[in-house]
Amino acid sequence: MYNQFPLAKLKEVETPFYYYNMQLLEDTLGVIKTEADKYGFHIHYAVKANANKRILEKINSFGIGADCVSGNEVSASLNAGFPADKVVFAGVGKADKEIITGLENNIGCFNVESIPELEIINELAEKHGKVANVALRINPNVKANTHHYITTGLEENKFGIYIWDLEKVMDKVDELKNVSFEGIHFHIGSQINDLDSFKQLCTRVNELQEWFAERRAFPRIINVGGGLGIDYEKPDENPMPNFEKFFKIFSDFLELKEGQEVHFELGRSVVCQCGTLMSKVLYVKEGVNTHFAIVDAGMSDLIRPALYQAYHKIENLTSSLEEDKYDVVGPICESSDCFGKAVTLPKTGRGDLIAIRSAGAYGEIMANQYNLRALPKAVYSDEI
Ligand SMILES: *Cc1c(COP(=O)(O)O)cnc(C)c1O
Repeated sequence: MYNQFPLAKLKEVETPFYYYNMQLLEDTLGVIKTEADKYGFHIHYAVKANANKRILEKINSFGIGADCVSGNEVSASLNAGFPADKVVFAGVGKADKEIITGLENNIGCFNVESIPELEIINELAEKHGKVANVALRINPNVKANTHHYITTGLEENKFGIYIWDLEKVMDKVDELKNVSFEGIHFHIGSQINDLDSFKQLCTRVNELQEWFAERRAFPRIINVGGGLGIDYEKPDENPMPNFEKFFKIFSDFLELKEGQEVHFELGRSVVCQCGTLMSKVLYVKEGVNTHFAIVDAGMSDLIRPALYQAYHKIENLTSSLEEDKYDVVGPICESSDCFGKAVTLPKTGRGDLIAIRSAGAYGEIMANQYNLRALPKAVYSDEI
């Protein structure tokens, strides 16, 4: 049902553009809400996956919070209607100005990644006459089975506080007057489909809970981050990940103490499948061993294949001729500007509409103007 694109209408829109299936987004949010509510889990949407205003507003309408990694994301979330107490601010390098944005708006929590950052938040909070709620982002040293650029929970990554530094950090928390310790935060990586990684995270959290109990410190919030993967190979068969199974793991394996809340920060799994990058074929050029289908979208519109060697399913929506193989490339002056090599497509020609699927997360938001190209537009299923 979700793979039915309104072709007659889409053909009229100037390419390239992102097409968002708002029904799929709504259904995904509905399932997330239902499954999380079973256990009283709290969800924050990781705004960095897609900060498109209509998408933020839709997500907010489901009572989900916002997880931000910059001052501008904090502002965008507030502008889209997220209540300030449901906005959290994470990130390894928060600038003073960004911290002040958070403080002035009384956001729910800062996820803190180092002692120097804690001291600056305390100092700025004091200046502004505030007490900042803080959670400590702990590097759990759990290996997520995913691309090495998107694992974040290992000791070699720049993220989080090392477990062996916790003692020092908690001493500092106790000493500082303008920060209030609210909880602990973890995020082990992205596009994780091996759910065992999340079980391991639960085990590590349980061990840490004992450490905090011995210290008589109480993390009220246990934030286990995001990272749930989606099916890039089969977006039609699996339009959403198995949220039921995902949340159940945390319910089964986390050992919670009285009064604790579990928070999640889901990004990709919320928005990825609802987005498609649409482009048209400009030329088909004969290469030595291949045909090049040169499309009018490039790595400036969707950088994931060039940046992470990411796979996106590519479809020709307007041809049903006999199949052939094509290297689908963009117009940008970089060899990495390639969406897929030896892609099987029906015989493709100038003007065919090409869909690059599963592009709702880390797509439009990562678009840039390299080669002085225009930023891609967005088209929504309920407005077309
Ligand atoms: C990126 C990020 C997320 C979201 O990750 P997804 O894989 O998109 O779910 C959540 N929390 C933090 C701290 C992040 O950096």
